[in-house]
Amino acid sequence: MTVQQQDVKKLAGELERKSAQDVIQWGIGEYKNKIALASSFGAEDVVLVDMIAKIDKSARIFTLDTGRLPQETYEVIEKIRKKYGINIEFFFPDTKAVEEMENTKGPDLFYDSVENRKLCCNVRKMGPLRRAMSSVDAWICGLRREQAVTRTDIMKVEIDETNGGKIKLNPLADWTEKQVWEYIKKNNVPYNALHDKNYPSIGCAPCTRAIEPGEDVRAGRWWWESPETKECGLHAKKK
Ligand code: SF4
Repeated sequence: MTVQQQDVKKLAGELERKSAQDVIQWGIGEYKNKIALASSFGAEDVVLVDMIAKIDKSARIFTLDTGRLPQETYEVIEKIRKKYGINIEFFFPDTKAVEEMENTKGPDLFYDSVENRKLCCNVRKMGPLRRAMSSVDAWICGLRREQAVTRTDIMKVEIDETNGGKIKLNPLADWTEKQVWEYIKKNNVPYNALHDKNYPSIGCAPCTRAIEPGEDVRAGRWWWESPETKECGLHAKKK
């Protein structure tokens, strides 16, 4: 274990007892304009946007516009921009990479195989993420432990080996879904209209569907794959 890993582990123990706002405050104080919220404007992300806007309106928030997002996502982004008067940074995929991918494999390649789906996520999400990440030393995410089998061991602060060893903050790591929605209602936070149509987790339009009662909250994401493969790479762990 490196010195930095030891420090972060100790810090994670300290931040575990802190509120989400305290974790955000710590991150912004420590990293200034070298930290940003990566937001896809799902329920957890709008909670974080609300908290960040109340702590520091100039704090950075970026989103990855894959080109395949549902219209409802653009609508909530507009509502948020207007309500809080904050700037959202958009990062798009590389045009040439998208053209090459679609020219060889078609526009809906992701349904054909896990490999194709990962290629699409790499081109449309990871490429823009890499560019966004090159401008920060730390990022803030809306991950919660109870969201998926791939997320049960996340800490409020950790080293993100997948993204170049940057610091990753998960202020809502120990939150329940109930807490998220209580916060949204209590603070009148704009949220994605798809949540009211049984979409608990929202990504690109062709890879997201509504879930049935009793289904896992991530069941509507890449529903044709097994749970173990269902990460787009943004939050994958290095083996
Ligand atoms: Fe492509 Fe679907 Fe991944 Fe979006 S979620 S980048 S459409 S495979």
